[in-house]
Amino acid sequence: MQFLKKLEEKWQKNWEKAKIFETDPDPSKPKCFITVAYPYPNSPQHIGHGRTYTMADVHARYMRMRGYNTLLPMAFHYTGTPVLAMAKRLAGNDKGLISDFINVYKIPPQKLKELTEPIAMARYFHQEIKTGMKEIGYSIDWRREFTTVDPIYNRFIEWQFRKLSQAGYITQGRHPVGWCPKDGNPVGQHDTEGDVEPEIGEFTLIRFKQASIVYPAATLRPETIFGVTNIWLNPTAKYVKATVDGEEWIVSQQSVEKLTNQNWKVRVQEAFEGKELVGKAVQNPATGKDILILPADFVDPKNATGVVMSVPGHAPYDYVALENMRKAPSRLKQYGITVEDVDSVQPISLIEVKGYSDVPAADVVKKMNIQEQTDSRLEDATKEVYRHEFHNGKMKANTGKYAGMAVAEAKDKVKQDLIQEGRATTMYELVNRPVFCRCRTECIVKIVEDQWFIDYGKPEWKKLAHKNLDMMEILPEEVRPEFNNVIDWLHEKACARKSGMGTRLPWDKDWIIESLSDSTIYMAYYTIAKHIKQNKIQPEQLTDEAFDYIFLGKNKPEEISEKTGLRKEILKQMHDEFMYFYPLDSRHSARELVPNHLTFMIFNHTAIFPENHWPRQIATNGQVMMEGSKMSKSFGNIIPLRVALDKFGADPLRLSVLSTAELLQDSDFSPAIAESMRGRLERFYKFATETAKTPHRKTSNTTLTAIDRWMLSRLNQHVKNATDAMDKLAVRKAIHTVLYELDQDFQWYQRRIATRKESMKTEASTAYVFHEVLDAQTRMLAPVAPHVCEEIWEMLGRKDFIARAPWPTFDETKIDVKAEENETFIMNVLDDTLNIMKATGTKPEKICYYAAAKWKWNTYLKTVEMSIATRVLQKDLMKKLMQEPDLRANAEKVAKFTGPLAEETNRTSEETKRRRLQIGLMNETKALEEAKGFFQKELNAEIHVYNEEDAERHDPKQRAQLAKPYRPAIYIE
Ligand SMILES: [Zn+2]
Repeated sequence: MQFLKKLEEKWQKNWEKAKIFETDPDPSKPKCFITVAYPYPNSPQHIGHGRTYTMADVHARYMRMRGYNTLLPMAFHYTGTPVLAMAKRLAGNDKGLISDFINVYKIPPQKLKELTEPIAMARYFHQEIKTGMKEIGYSIDWRREFTTVDPIYNRFIEWQFRKLSQAGYITQGRHPVGWCPKDGNPVGQHDTEGDVEPEIGEFTLIRFKQASIVYPAATLRPETIFGVTNIWLNPTAKYVKATVDGEEWIVSQQSVEKLTNQNWKVRVQEAFEGKELVGKAVQNPATGKDILILPADFVDPKNATGVVMSVPGHAPYDYVALENMRKAPSRLKQYGITVEDVDSVQPISLIEVKGYSDVPAADVVKKMNIQEQTDSRLEDATKEVYRHEFHNGKMKANTGKYAGMAVAEAKDKVKQDLIQEGRATTMYELVNRPVFCRCRTECIVKIVEDQWFIDYGKPEWKKLAHKNLDMMEILPEEVRPEFNNVIDWLHEKACARKSGMGTRLPWDKDWIIESLSDSTIYMAYYTIAKHIKQNKIQPEQLTDEAFDYIFLGKNKPEEISEKTGLRKEILKQMHDEFMYFYPLDSRHSARELVPNHLTFMIFNHTAIFPENHWPRQIATNGQVMMEGSKMSKSFGNIIPLRVALDKFGADPLRLSVLSTAELLQDSDFSPAIAESMRGRLERFYKFATETAKTPHRKTSNTTLTAIDRWMLSRLNQHVKNATDAMDKLAVRKAIHTVLYELDQDFQWYQRRIATRKESMKTEASTAYVFHEVLDAQTRMLAPVAPHVCEEIWEMLGRKDFIARAPWPTFDETKIDVKAEENETFIMNVLDDTLNIMKATGTKPEKICYYAAAKWKWNTYLKTVEMSIATRVLQKDLMKKLMQEPDLRANAEKVAKFTGPLAEETNRTSEETKRRRLQIGLMNETKALEEAKGFFQKELNAEIHVYNEEDAERHDPKQRAQLAKPYRPAIYIE
């Protein structure tokens, strides 16, 4: 471990000293610009964060080795709730948080007090995260680092927002937003616990009446009003009678705050438990019928109004609640209702849908065997009925003017009509509630009157976003439909809030731009950040005209220079640098950012930049699990990144987070994997040390034996596979190829040459092969395990850093089909022999191999030829074979041999058949003779090789005649 630690420090220092990751424009080389979502500095990073950043770094290192002038920059996202809420929790003495900071993240307790200041917290964790990124060996150009509260960055965001506003994409108005009542701020995904996007749905509130008192039943399926049989209230929940906009309403106590936040004028008159209203009757506004109020435990008083209409024919919850009541008549007494009352409530069928009876709710409940209204599977049951009815259902005759209408259509029609007639209104609710703010308060929906929005709902903007997506590479491709959906459903997004750190809206300084809106085009800012620092540019110098010139090529630098005092040359350099690095070649992030950040990035780029500067690729990855479980503070299984680095080392950790899963899958970290990776790297290093001691000899093809050529052929195949995998960022597969498959072949090679005669010739070819393998393997491992690979590179006497060395290229001329087939043959013979030994339990002293006779080979190759792309029949085969005089002379033997041959050949893969035809007759005796020493050592017996027709052969049991091409006969004694 000490050894790895030393290597890491050494190479990190060397890289920094040589500035090899400081990337400037170089017109002589193709460029590659890779970025990864910048972190919120509100806590130290843990292993889970390590995956996305390591993936981006491996990508950057790979592209660098592929000859691209590659830029990987980094910045820090101070804006918004994440930092603010964390500082607030700390200031509020949140015990859990303090314990995590001290015990998990090892923050000195005396430090905590100063971290209650948001900016101090951000600066502290900024440094902590940055140190971790250096310690894990990321190839970042740190000259471009910035934070989102830097005054010049604020200028950049102001420019962005004026651009959006000019394009007509900013709106202000009355809109429902996810809201934290405690903070008094809108909440988006990055403001909530567990990063949940609050999803707003619109409930229809149908006015069921009892004289003038309104029971506003909340529903997402207003078309089912014709099937309402009763109203549900939760008997033990608190309800209130309140004046709501002049009417008298019965609603749950919890809904009062929600209604108020949605601009209803609510005045509570009295409060009571739901059971007090049970047994009373209300009128269904659609049918005019009186229906009963009944008690139900499943009714959640926190959901919308807490008043629910019951449609047992089509709603599984309602069906089960009624059944439950029928089964427990003794419970009814306390509410003053009778069994007859309940029995009179029978499901009403109002929708016809294929594959279901009149009462689809009953069908699904029975199918899933649900007994209780508290069964969580009722959610799925509800979804199933809804899905079928919505897509395939038709309104029945008892629905009046909607009869015959498709449910999908009736749903909106009924709603509109009810609202128009004053029999219903609407209310917003979070459909994925409960969603909690980072301050631990449950979020609600608020209608904000003068809220600022970015209007992602604009159809012409959506068209541009789709255009960008269509021309972009999405890794892995299967995520593309998700992007298409998000682009389609995105609508106005609240883009500013009243508190927090960040950039003020340029035209309304009371508002601060929130964190998912000030992080959409900052990749462009990286291209100029370096110049801003080097030239000490002042915020006021970067006017909109200056940004228009730098990023859009508009205006004359001379004129801007005159106005701002910014030198013309500097402006030009910034413009040129932007033009060189843009468009962004790859954006990395976790998959959770698809519904927001990543799609916002697409939208904003299309709004501001011309098409040739739109992003080219997005790579998303899954999460990191800890020994099979989700990583979470409550499980206590979070390992801080720097702790893990200290414990396992940078290279083993990098390998561990990338080697257990491809991009989208969740990877599974465990200390055991990290330990085993460290073991592998140490063995690799040892092999390198030994190989480095022997000189790397040049050799010509003539000195290479078949087994040498086999190893080089395999090596080249692995280079091809690893390259193909890396091109798709299938890093797990690449690691597997380089570390396991190549190693397996190389071990076989070493076994095969263990008995090689020590002549000058073979020594030279061995050293050559060892060095070729080591060279390619080191290069291919370098992006993932850069520290160990640099050390080996130096040991091999290479001048420059491996980080700048070329990735190995696939050399097709090294692919040796014959050598590979020959080796597969030897492996099979060894396996067959070992199987016989195992089956018979003998320890042989002598083993005889009999290679197939020439006529058998002749027959075999003819058969293969005939079977290419078709099935060969034995009778056709014989007809063909009998045309050959020497085969005709042995017709009986040939017939016996071809019997099973035709079928066997038909089962052989086309690829194998073509390869074997290409090779033709293999000299099996020669191959076996050459491997004699190897077999002798492996099997610990005397080896004899014959052709089956050798007159001199030792063959007491008449085994030789069983020989087939590629399967020599074996005799053991
Ligand atoms: Zn809050």
